[in-house]
Amino acid sequence: MSNSNMFSGKVVLITGASSGIGAATAIHFASEGASLALTGRNTQNLEEIARKCEENKGVKTITIVADLNVEDDIKNIVERTINTFGKLDILVNNAGIFKIGTLEETSVQDYDAVFSTNIRSVYILTKLVVPYLEKTKGNIVNVSSLAGTRPLPGLIVYCMAKAALNQFTKCLAVELAAKQIRVNSVNPGTIDTDIFRRAGMNDEENKQYLARGKAIHPLGRVGQPEEVAMSIAFLASSQASFTTGETLAVDGGRNIVCPR
Ligand code: NAD
Repeated sequence: MSNSNMFSGKVVLITGASSGIGAATAIHFASEGASLALTGRNTQNLEEIARKCEENKGVKTITIVADLNVEDDIKNIVERTINTFGKLDILVNNAGIFKIGTLEETSVQDYDAVFSTNIRSVYILTKLVVPYLEKTKGNIVNVSSLAGTRPLPGLIVYCMAKAALNQFTKCLAVELAAKQIRVNSVNPGTIDTDIFRRAGMNDEENKQYLARGKAIHPLGRVGQPEEVAMSIAFLASSQASFTTGETLAVDGGRNIVCPR
């Protein structure tokens, strides 16, 4: 935490803020003085993150419980944010689900679930907030993945959805440049969160997956949610004022190596 108030006066909307990378991002933005609209599905966890954010003097948060697969819930996220704060400066499209499986192992229901959460909801939410970002000359940071640029074996549906998110980031950056709205993504490697357990790994499988992460990231370890949060904040800040359409690897060098 730097407490430099870099985001003082800014309103930041974060999806999937109740855990993992989203929660770390909320706490980081709060430490920099931002006001926060935090959305997720778990009320108790959201309230807990909001409480941590408000430990920073003057930081105001609202929590909005929403299922991003439900269009009316997405509309409610935007309405509550604007009704409360009157504006929006930064959208962090972070929420997402992980699905393990090859083409032969996954079903069309798996495909629909991953695309609905990881890309369809991003399209809908972003469309609704662009008019507000236009007023503030704000920006968007999408939480994509190494899986969006590199085919990771046995993760076909997830890789496809993150590839779509990368292209969404670049297309939208070009579309919105005239409005001075920047659009970027972070593309993490393996980060130590609950996403793998939520995708069905048991504790032992999760442990093995993270242990293997040490071998396949050149920096010799998996990443922590706070490291992704800092990169998101950088892209969202005026320090990145001439950067748009960037898909920033936050992966300990994993995307640049080939197996040998
Ligand atoms: P996580 O499971 O802790 O967080 C995901 C968040 O998304 C949760 O808060 C969850 O409630 C929310 N979410 C999922 N489906 C939702 C829905 N239908 N409606 C509303 N909220 C929903 O995992 P995480 O690792 O923090 O993941 C955050 C993002 O980072 C995801 O987009 C993920 O794909 C991406 N990512 C994670 C890793 C990693 O290794 N952990 C690597 C690359 C990218």
